[in-house]
Amino acid sequence: MGYFRPAIEAMTGYVPGEQPPPGTPVIKLNTNENPYPPSPQAMAVLHSLDSEWLRRYPDPYGREVRQAVSQGLQVPEDWVIVTNGSDDLLNILIRACAEGHSRPVAYPTPTYVLYRTLAALQPAQVIEIPYPENYRLPLDELVAAQAAVTLIASPNSPSGHSVPVVDLGRLAQRLSGILAIDEAYVDFADTSALELVQQHANVLLLRTLSKGYGLAGLRLGFGLAQPELIAGLFKVKDSYTVDAVAMAVGAAALRDQAYKDQRAKQIKASRTRLIRELRRLGFTVPDSQGNFVLATVPMGSAQALTQALKQRGILVRYFNQPGLDDKLRITIGTEAQNQQLLEILQALLANAH
Ligand code: PMP
Repeated sequence: MGYFRPAIEAMTGYVPGEQPPPGTPVIKLNTNENPYPPSPQAMAVLHSLDSEWLRRYPDPYGREVRQAVSQGLQVPEDWVIVTNGSDDLLNILIRACAEGHSRPVAYPTPTYVLYRTLAALQPAQVIEIPYPENYRLPLDELVAAQAAVTLIASPNSPSGHSVPVVDLGRLAQRLSGILAIDEAYVDFADTSALELVQQHANVLLLRTLSKGYGLAGLRLGFGLAQPELIAGLFKVKDSYTVDAVAMAVGAAALRDQAYKDQRAKQIKASRTRLIRELRRLGFTVPDSQGNFVLATVPMGSAQALTQALKQRGILVRYFNQPGLDDKLRITIGTEAQNQQLLEILQALLANAH
């Protein structure tokens, strides 16, 4: 007998992007972090906390964060659940709702690979529906699946496209299970599906402080849904998975929307320039609503280019899977980092001639 349940023995573990320790001299464009520091107000709270914040258990309800979200987004506090990053909320959601063949998980692909891992862990049947080339939402196929949980990342990673809110609304209307809209990258997008939470009892919106707020190391995320759905998720959440320091610092970041918005604006302007310059170098790059771009190399292989960049101190993410053969996903860095990337790419491509 193996040590593990058959589902665990059979699955491939999730492989996260490389995370060298802070201080390593690399340009890190591989895991869609924010290249700028978090809000100074959040840093001030971090430095102000005394030992009591470490000695005592954290608030299991995350009230300070719920209050900050409630004020920022104009939703009642009991419409919010606070989690250890949005990965934790995805885990809670799948554990709460999915099981075997009778309660499957569905999502369009390519998308965030963790969805498959969490379903495999459960285990729950996975229904993967490929996006067409134009990335229109495969609405009828997702409706036909009638999964217990339908997951849509919008903006999606690594494609960078956003799903129109009207399509998400139609989908919510036609599903009897939960529609989870993963808005990890919403701070860099032109639209949000927030209004759907009010309109549909089966919609759960997932947000994170890892991207727009520049707090990926803090591990803080939250979900927005109507109270009945939130109450069900609370039953599954461990009491103390979100630490006290993360909540105090994260709440301060949430109260400083102006800082987040200003950084997001900067990153969006850099995104426009990076896309334009990559296209000038011959890369095929679709428009993006995230803090990253997906690039097809003009010559040679993306895998070889990923390695060559790594040797020169730049980390990017390599993708090779159905619907995404041999692509690079590049996180938007600071202007100086993007410039360095472009110069190195230009030199590498010139040598390849
Ligand atoms: N959703 C998507 C689509 C993501 O790309 C990521 C980050 N890689 C997450 C959720 C998870 O973010 P976090 O757990 O840091 O909140």
